[in-house]
Amino acid sequence: MHAEIISIGDEITSGQTLDTNSQWLSQRLAELGIRTLYHTTVGDELAPGVEVFRRAIDRADLVIATGGLGPTADDLTRDALAQATSRPLQRDTDALEHVRSIFTRLGRAMPPQNEIQAMFPAGSRVIPNPHGTAPGIDLGVTPEGQPPCRLFCLPGVPAEMVEMWHATVAPTIVDFLGPNRRVIRFRRIHCFGAGESQIESMLPNMIRRGRQPTVGITASKATITLRISAEGATEAECLAAIEPTEATIRQCLGSLVFGAEDDQLQDAVIRLLRTQGKTLATADSATAGLLSQWLASAEHSAGVYWGGLVLTKPTVAPDALAVECRLRFDADYGLAVGNAQGCNSPLQTDAGGKGGSLPSPSGRGAAAEDDTVITVALSSAAGVQTKDVAFHLHPELRHIYLAKQAINFARLALEEEAAASD
Ligand code: ATP
Ligand code: MG
Repeated sequence: MHAEIISIGDEITSGQTLDTNSQWLSQRLAELGIRTLYHTTVGDELAPGVEVFRRAIDRADLVIATGGLGPTADDLTRDALAQATSRPLQRDTDALEHVRSIFTRLGRAMPPQNEIQAMFPAGSRVIPNPHGTAPGIDLGVTPEGQPPCRLFCLPGVPAEMVEMWHATVAPTIVDFLGPNRRVIRFRRIHCFGAGESQIESMLPNMIRRGRQPTVGITASKATITLRISAEGATEAECLAAIEPTEATIRQCLGSLVFGAEDDQLQDAVIRLLRTQGKTLATADSATAGLLSQWLASAEHSAGVYWGGLVLTKPTVAPDALAVECRLRFDADYGLAVGNAQGCNSPLQTDAGGKGGSLPSPSGRGAAAEDDTVITVALSSAAGVQTKDVAFHLHPELRHIYLAKQAINFARLALEEEAAASD
């Protein structure tokens, strides 16, 4: 069974409103085991609206449309649906009563144009809208020589759409799916440290059509996500199918994998610090504070991440800054990211003693913005490890990429530490 979601409204096609309804509906349909194959967006015009409905009826088993059910001249969903299905619009007296009662409650007379909201293509069922004037439309059609198609039209207002989905549409869909109902479950696994194609090549031909469960790969700001999707009769069946695929992915990718679902790199680092009973401080002259912002706002970071220095014109090399901030904050680890060039030679700090001086703002220093090699340094009682990160990136991505590189460097060191103490 395939679904198509239609969003109707000039505010969406013009770019004023982001179509969040389609995203939300696709997620709910997936939970019911229904795959959405098309998202279609159309402006407030009759002929294109009719065409969109016709095409959806032709190619989908289930159609959910949102928007255009209001009382104004530009709300054409009911007319478009009536024309697309060659059905006349008929008045529903209960629906009319409902619309009227809303105005009565507000102490106003119903404007005549609201009567249109009680008009439905013949054969429709009314989907109640407890908190709005626009009732929804539920219509089943079977075009000649074609499989049946079920259409649901809901208002565009997200709160009303959501309420009506839960109260009426989802139970109706579950009902007509009957015992053939399937469920789909997903698992997201996140990696950092290699490119999309490199990660794909490390997996045993997993990302291919027809595989069950399916594995998809997406890259977002240098984080690579593998999305496992399993379809089955029950949730337990899906989870059981996902498990061996996830195990294979983790085995093949090793320490490239840092987390799952909503995990970010900083969550992995905070978790590792907590289990090891260690603390971290940072010094950042390459990510405009992103490094400390991410670590400080990660869940359960309080008491584990002490805090950080943000320097815009560094005069001290990152390896010295890593030591310096570790000592200043009295933390187990000091993590620094910045440009080593143009800085003074590393401070002569002995790991155990009271550290050297902070960089003076008047000192010379290179602007990290223009650099294409940045150094990440991690200091602990055992010494300082460094890594040079070469990059060539759009400026918007630079801070994000370098903050991820720095956090990932700490993650790998902490993972090694954990493995060594096992
Ligand atoms: P009514 O006009 O009675 O509220 P309607 O069905 O005509 O209901 P629209 O006028 O199309 O709804 O949309 C109302 C508002 O809902 C829009 O201004 C917009 O803010 C929001 N909206 C509409 N469609 C979407 C969508 N696809 N995603 C997110 N928000 C939407
Ligand atoms: Mg409207």
